[in-house]
Amino acid sequence: MSEIRKDPTSHTWIVLSTERGKRPSDFREREVGPPSALRPCPFCGGEEMAPPEDVHAIWPGEIDKRTKGWKTRVLPNKYPALRPGIELSQAEADTIYHLLSGVGAHEVIVESPNHEDTLATMPPSQIEAVIRTYCQRYKFWRRDPRVTFVLIFKNYGVAAGASLEHPHSQLVATPIIPPRIFEELEEAKDYYLRNKECIYCRMIKAEAEAKVSRKVLENDTMFALCPFASRFPCELYILPKKHAAALEEITQKEVSDLAKMISKVFRRMNKVLNDPPYNFMIHVAPLRTPGLLFYHWHIEIIPRLTMPAGFEWGTGIYINIISPEDAAKALRQAK
Ligand SMILES: [Zn+2]
Ligand SMILES: [Zn+2]
Ligand SMILES: [Zn+2]
Repeated sequence: MSEIRKDPTSHTWIVLSTERGKRPSDFREREVGPPSALRPCPFCGGEEMAPPEDVHAIWPGEIDKRTKGWKTRVLPNKYPALRPGIELSQAEADTIYHLLSGVGAHEVIVESPNHEDTLATMPPSQIEAVIRTYCQRYKFWRRDPRVTFVLIFKNYGVAAGASLEHPHSQLVATPIIPPRIFEELEEAKDYYLRNKECIYCRMIKAEAEAKVSRKVLENDTMFALCPFASRFPCELYILPKKHAAALEEITQKEVSDLAKMISKVFRRMNKVLNDPPYNFMIHVAPLRTPGLLFYHWHIEIIPRLTMPAGFEWGTGIYINIISPEDAAKALRQAK
């Protein structure tokens, strides 16, 4: 069973998840290459993924109306960091330590039946099915009073932390608001109180009008940019042009535009960076406050081209060796 521990000297929380039964000496040997390459893919199968009896264990994802085959699937993570069905409890230890039970959820969203698919090669209609599955999962977890926040993310490539090749995203539902989200909420609220405007809406306007723009792409309802203070080379945000704090408020037109935008962004990233490893994260408002006027859902994409090192770990300040202006220009021009 996992625990969520608070560091008494900072805003850091950690999840202690010892399900894999590792011992310190197991790290003497360094893993090289994708560990999955030698095993049969667990997500390629059909019937073996049928739901076990546990109600928390599996949901169907999306079915293709024509072929009756699955388009997306939602499965429990084999080694869940957090799990549903347990009490949310807190405890103190040694008078200075604070911890919570590891309640929440950890799911895998299989994005396609096709093992070779990537976000750059999938047809946008398949990406639409993935977005609808994300929305369904947010709606599902909104009903659980123990869950406060849901992060949907994707690790692509070994250097980005992926252990399986088959296209998939993950969902972790937490009983706390993660520090990174808390920070964004605080900044956005502060800006809103001073200016009566959402900082993200303002940022889209600023980038659309800027002389030296960090805009990468836009369509009717979506906008992609390299953020002004990009932490990593070619870091990228995708935002809806119309203000919304929760992804599941998305309209069918926006789903379609977002799918096209994701497809284009990753095809261009492949052109410029040659199929880089990356992390993809969706930031939404906490589940109890879906209609916030000052928070604006967005996707953050970080190609993993450089490694945070001592300075980054020691200060929380990132040294970025490519300007977001140059990154945006290269991605704009990569047709
Ligand atoms: Zn597969
Ligand atoms: Zn906004
Ligand atoms: Zn964010």
